[in-house]
This record gives sequence, structure tokens and C-alpha cells, in this order.
Amino acid sequence: MSRLTGAGEQRGAEVIDEHGDTVPLPVVPSAGDSEEPIDHLSESYADGPQRPPFTPILKKVALGVAVCLVAGAGYAGLQQIANAPADPSGAGAHQPSQSTSTTPDQAQAGVQRAVAGEAVLQKMTDAVENEDRTEFLNTIDPKATAFRTSARTIFSNLSTLPLGTFQLRYVSDDSAALTPDRQAELGGTQSWLAQVEVSWQLSGYDVKPARETLPVTFVTREGKTYAASFSERFVAGQRRPVWALGPIDLAKGKHSLVISLESESEARSYVSVADKAVESVTKVWGKGWRQKVVIYLPAKQAQMEGVLGAQPNTYTQIAAVTMAELDTPAVGAPVRIVANPKLFEELGKQGRRIVLTHETTHVASTATASPVPLWLAEGFADYVAFTAVPVQDESAAKELFKAVRAGKVPATLPTPEAFAASATELPQAYESAWLACRLIAEREGQDKLVKFYRAVHASKTSSGLPDAFKSVLGMTEAEFVAEWQKYLERLAGA
Ligand SMILES: [Zn+2]
Repeated sequence: MSRLTGAGEQRGAEVIDEHGDTVPLPVVPSAGDSEEPIDHLSESYADGPQRPPFTPILKKVALGVAVCLVAGAGYAGLQQIANAPADPSGAGAHQPSQSTSTTPDQAQAGVQRAVAGEAVLQKMTDAVENEDRTEFLNTIDPKATAFRTSARTIFSNLSTLPLGTFQLRYVSDDSAALTPDRQAELGGTQSWLAQVEVSWQLSGYDVKPARETLPVTFVTREGKTYAASFSERFVAGQRRPVWALGPIDLAKGKHSLVISLESESEARSYVSVADKAVESVTKVWGKGWRQKVVIYLPAKQAQMEGVLGAQPNTYTQIAAVTMAELDTPAVGAPVRIVANPKLFEELGKQGRRIVLTHETTHVASTATASPVPLWLAEGFADYVAFTAVPVQDESAAKELFKAVRAGKVPATLPTPEAFAASATELPQAYESAWLACRLIAEREGQDKLVKFYRAVHASKTSSGLPDAFKSVLGMTEAEFVAEWQKYLERLAGA
């Protein structure tokens, strides 16, 4: 598979390898030709409170460490979720209703459920639009005490967000998804689980609505249908909307919106870092992007994993992730930077700025939907971050220098596999990619580096990279690699 045309698929495959079956991902069709964000990038910064440049900790921060690129917005498609067995572990799993024969009576019952459920969703949507809390709570099962509490939070969150649009759409249901015990617990004359598409657009930030699929439990009692849960039987890969995870606070900056599950003061403290990151990126990339970022700041790693649709403890080593919040690729998909609260906090001020500048570079350059090879996407993001927040080479390229001094000069530019979070020489991959980009900037000027990146990004064929080497840099990749190897040896003093 060539570097360019296959980039999207390769990225998807990487993540499947990396996370096993914890993050099931669809094969993204024609990802290589796509102009839209189709995968998300993430970085891991293993540890590091703020320290002066030469300490091991900051070095690790500077090094970037683990990355994963997730295709298809890290998300199984809508239909896949709708068809997925209710319990991915297999316990109580059953065949999706589509694969069993349906009698006319069953079909009619399905239509009745859809009509009743859709009516509830419509009332909810209207209540959100009209900011009518009472109407909203009228749609919630009076017997679902815990869910009524979350519903109050959800309503208040939705009122807090600058919503341009908000919609709920009944997609499909599965009458067998709830166990008899659960149905008995719910009571009523009928109860079932439906998949509901929720879409919402943040005014001033999103060109298109974000979209997710929520499992909604419905119950009918005394002739009236209610929603009884928004969180029953999530399947692996199914993402949770940030506003359904707990009370949120917002902080708005000049270029950023921070949505925090932590606290308002926490949100505010990130706004200035995010604003600075946008300015730093614009200085290098230019003004031809929206110059806005939306950052999710979960209070717990579990919430981050909820937003990403990942299994618990998948992101133990990941400080921040850039993701497209959409179930299928589309032009202008809303992109979010999702922070891992504990690791992000531990990074310290300088480390956070480096990470946010790196992630914001991915946002500006739409790296989530680019045929650009990973070494260029990651190297360029680190180039922008380290240009904004300079770090000593000896710190920022420590692992690479160690290898080069031991005579292990990289034979090629880092491969996509080298950027898998599980890759053993991940720091070297980052460091050598960064220095490849810096070499281009030193040799030809920063503008040429940006021009080179844009040329590869805009390419539609597998010859995009060699063409850009020739037309922008006037050399072949092999010639560049030879020069880069010498550069690494010189920097490492080998
Ligand atoms: Zn990255």
C-alpha cells in the first residue's frame, strides 16, 4: 500500500493492531482521497511536571512519546452500532433483529415502538430548543430516579452550550436488547432499547453538526412513553456526548472554547494556553483556517474514554487526542481536542503548551483527513510546537541522539508503524520526524516547509510525496534521507 493513497486505511489498521478489539473501527472507504477529517491523532506524554529543560521529565514531555492515529473518527458507523449485539462480551448476545425473520405482527410492533419513541424525542428536541426544562423532564420516566437526575444535568448542559442546532433521530431498535430482568425492573406495559442519532452544532465553532449515536431506553406505562436511560448497553466504540457525562462548565477565549467537566476555573486556565496555541500555529500555517479550537476537559480519564468510545484504561498513556466528532467522514467535521485530565495536569504549563500547540497544528492542517504521511504530520506538528516553545535539542531528541551515537542512524524516514502507541521506538520516531521537518525549514526556510506540507496534503495520487520532494525541495526522497542522516549525526555529535 502506498504511503499516500493508503494513508487512511493504514492509520485505521494501526489502531486496530494497537488496541486490539477494544476500539473496533470500520474500514474507511476512499480515505486517501478524502478531504475530510476521517481519523484522529493522539499523543501521549507519559509523565512530567514542569521542570527545567535538561531534566528527564521535561524531555519526555518534549519527546512526545506515544501516538495513535484513529481512522473513521474512532468510531463504528451508525449502522454497525445499530446492528451490534447488545453485549459485546457475548454474554446475553443475540442475533441482530435484521438477520432473523420478522412476522407482520413483529413488524407492526416495531413501527409502533418507533412512532412512540420518535414522539418522545421530538418533545425533547422542542424542549431544548424552547429552553423549557419542565417539558424536557416530562419526557423522562418518573420512576427512573437516577436518570431524572442526569436528565436535569443534561438539560442544564444543553442550555449552557452555544447550540446552533440540536436534533434527536430514532434510528433503529432491538426489542430483545433488554434482559427479562431489566424489563421487569422497568415495569410498564412495554420497554425497549433504541439507537438514537444525536446531532448538535456549536455556534461559532462548528461548520457541521457533531453526530453520535445514543442508546435510549424507552418505557411505556399507563399509555405514555418515556425515556428511561441514555446510557444502557453502550457497545465498544460507541462514543458518549460530552454533555451527557456530568455537569459542564464553559470558558471562552478569543480563539478557543473549553468545555470542562472539571470546573469553571479549570476551564478558564486552559483558555489562555489554547489561545496562545492557535496564535502560534497561525504564525507558521498562516491565516487560512478557522483559527478556533474546541477543547474537552474531562474530569476523569474514564470520561475521556467515554468521549472517544474507548474501553476503560485504553488511554492510560495518552495526554490529549485530536478527533473528528462525527460517525462518518464529511467535509468540515467538527474537530475536538480531548485532554486526559491527570496526565495533562502533570505536564506543567510548558508541557501543556507544547501538547496543545501540537494538537492545534493537526486541527489547522486537517491532519485527521490528510494523505500526508505520519512522519510529516507528526514531525510538522512538533516543529510548530517546538518553534513556539523552544526546548534544547539534547532534551527534545534524547532517545534519537542516544541511538545515533550508538551507530544506529535511521535508515528511512519513520514508517506509519513506528507511530503506533505500542511501537518500541516511538520516541525516536517523533524525534526523527521533527528533525526531518526542521531540516527542511533550516535548509529552505519555514515557508518552504509549509509549502511542502501543503503540496503533499493537496495531492490526490500516490506520487504526491515524491512530486513534492522534487517540485518544492528540488531533490528525491533518497537524497533528502541521506542529508537528514548526516544532519542527525552532526546534531548528535556522532
Ligand atoms: Zn500528533
